[in-house]
This record gives sequence, structure tokens and C-alpha cells, in this order.
Amino acid sequence: MLLLNWMPARECFRSWTLPVRLRPLNVGRFPVLMNTVVLPDGPAERDVPALGQGTWRMGENKNAHPDEVAALRLGIDLGMTLIDTAEMYGDGGAEKVVADAIDAQRDRVFVVTKVYPHNASRTELPKACERSLKRLRIEVIDLYLLHWRSSTPLAETVETFEQLRSAGKIRRWGVSNFDLKDMKELFAIENGSACAANQILYNLQHRQIEFDLLPLHQTSNLKHQTSLIPIMAYSPVGHGRGLLNNATLKKIAKRHDATPAQIALAWVLRQPGVIAIPKASNKTHVRENAGSVEIELTKEDLAEIDRFFPAPKSKQPLPIL
Ligand code: NAP
Repeated sequence: MLLLNWMPARECFRSWTLPVRLRPLNVGRFPVLMNTVVLPDGPAERDVPALGQGTWRMGENKNAHPDEVAALRLGIDLGMTLIDTAEMYGDGGAEKVVADAIDAQRDRVFVVTKVYPHNASRTELPKACERSLKRLRIEVIDLYLLHWRSSTPLAETVETFEQLRSAGKIRRWGVSNFDLKDMKELFAIENGSACAANQILYNLQHRQIEFDLLPLHQTSNLKHQTSLIPIMAYSPVGHGRGLLNNATLKKIAKRHDATPAQIALAWVLRQPGVIAIPKASNKTHVRENAGSVEIELTKEDLAEIDRFFPAPKSKQPLPIL
């Protein structure tokens, strides 16, 4: 059942106990109800859908191109208007798939792409950004992420991100695969707290972030920020590595007349301030994933999940795929 709640997004975002905010998105012929996440730098109009789409493994094979474009376009029509890609995926091929998927509807889509760490210097970052803009066939990137920690000093990368923002090439920037100590280092440098998101591995099998990193994101109280820094959960359905065959997940799915993937996504999306970006080239998967926003897990479901996929009891390093 869909839970409609019109509390101000920021209030919901600051608490674990309040429901996730749902609002109608005018994405297709019909408005789609989708929970949203407020970005740290903007008013509520700049909320993004909590459920987006990933593109890793797209753009690698020309024959698959039309199906990949069609899958992303269907996802956009179903409200998953945030698309994540990277210069790394398919050596730029995934960005070209995204370009075709958002063609003639760029304004409906929030485009996230990522720069390789070896391109994160003041000389290489602007060039990498231009190449991504060209492949994506857009004027400005909505969110530009550092894919993982680089040997370039973080302060240099942040300064260059800020210059790209001033030049109108990107709207905001963020990081990926940053653990707690990386985030603290980031917050300590000039403009580091302007970071708009941290994209990290988070799914039922990988709950490491719940011990300290997720709490930091949910409670950090940086003076000049209007809201907290969202988490973007990657591999939310387990990267096709067997999570969806889990018997507990299947049992819960049956109770909800849903699929294991929908339960895995509903679990990631159960809390405010978390964006999930499943990748699906298959249209049936796309439809299923979009339907996950309608699933409300019960206390019993969550307890059963905790028994099979326990939350961490101590600090564990952030895993990277
Ligand atoms: P994922 O989204 O958890 O899993 C993708 C796999 O699951 C694909 O094989 C897909 O199949 C399948 N799938 C999707 N929906 C399904 C459903 N409803 N039922 C059954 N199978 C389903 O893994 P991911 O691609 O690793 O992560 C998602 C996105 O996060 C990536 O695409 C990428 O954009 C981003 N990412 C970022 C990083 C980083 O370092 N920042 C790392 C990994 C991923 P089909 O394609 O055949 O539909």
C-alpha cells in the first residue's frame, strides 16, 4: 500500500522513525508516486527520486544498445528519473547509452556520472568532464562524483570540482566509496562539506555502513548545510551474485506477492536519505524495480531479515565492488 505523507522533506530526512516522503513526479502521461530525497544544496524542488537506475555493464556491446536505451527510457517513464553512470562503464559506452535514453527529455532526468581517480587532478578533471559532457550530449552534469579515492590530494579535486561548478559544467559534486575516515577528511578541507552525495555499496548482504558511516550521514550537523548528505546505495539487488535466491528473501516476497528484488529494494529504501540505483537492462526487471516503492516492510519482515542478514556490531571496512 502506498503511504502518502506531506511532511516537509527535511524533517523526515532527519529521523529514522518518520516515514519516507512520497510525492507525485510528473514524469510520463500519469503522475508517479515516488519517495524522494532532498539534496544538501537545494530547496525541495530539487529533490531527486529515491529510486534511480544504474548503468554498469551497459554500453559494452553494440547489439545490446537498443535494449539498454529502451530499458532506461521505460525506467524514466516509471519515475526512476535519476540515472547513474561513469566514464569507466563500457569505456564511455554507458554514457552514450544514457545520451540516447535521455534524448529529447533531458530536463526530466537527473544525470549522475563519475570521474576516474586517475583523472581527478586540476589538469585532468576538466578534460574528463568535457569528455563526459560530450558523450552524454548535455550542457551540464547534475552530480559529478569522484569514483573512489585518488592519489591526487582531495583538496585539489574539491577545488577543481568547485571551479567546474562555477563554470557551469556541473551542478554539484560528490564522492563514491568513501568510508568514515575519508568523509571526515573531506569535511575538514575547504568546501569539503559542499559534497552532495556518497555513493557506496549497500544491500542486504553488505550492511557494513550501518555501524558508523550511515549514522554520520544521518546526523552530521555541518553549520552551512541545509540538509544532510544522502547515501547512494549501489548494487542494491546484489549485482546478480545470488542474493535474490536467498530463501528468507523469497519467503518475505511471497507474503507481499512481490519478487525478491522488490523486497531487497524496499529494504534499502526503507529509510530516508538513501537513494538506490539498481541496474536493469531487462524491461521486466525495470518494471519490478519500479514497483518496489509500493512495498512497505513490516516489523516482522525486518526482524526476519535481521536474523538472516545481521547488522554489524563493530566497525568493518567499507567494501568496494
Ligand atoms: P545491481 O543493480 O544490484 O544488480 C544488477 C544485476 O541485477 C543485473 O544483472 C540485472 O539484470 C539484475 N537485476 C536488476 N533488477 C532485477 C530484478 N528485478 N530481478 C532480477 N534481477 C535483477 O548491481 P550493480 O549494477 O553493481 O549496481 C547498480 C549500479 O550502481 C551500477 O549499475 C552502477 O551504476 C552503480 N555502481 C557503482 C559503483 C561504484 O563504485 N560507485 C560500483 C558498483 C555499481 P539485467 O541487467 O539483466 O536486468
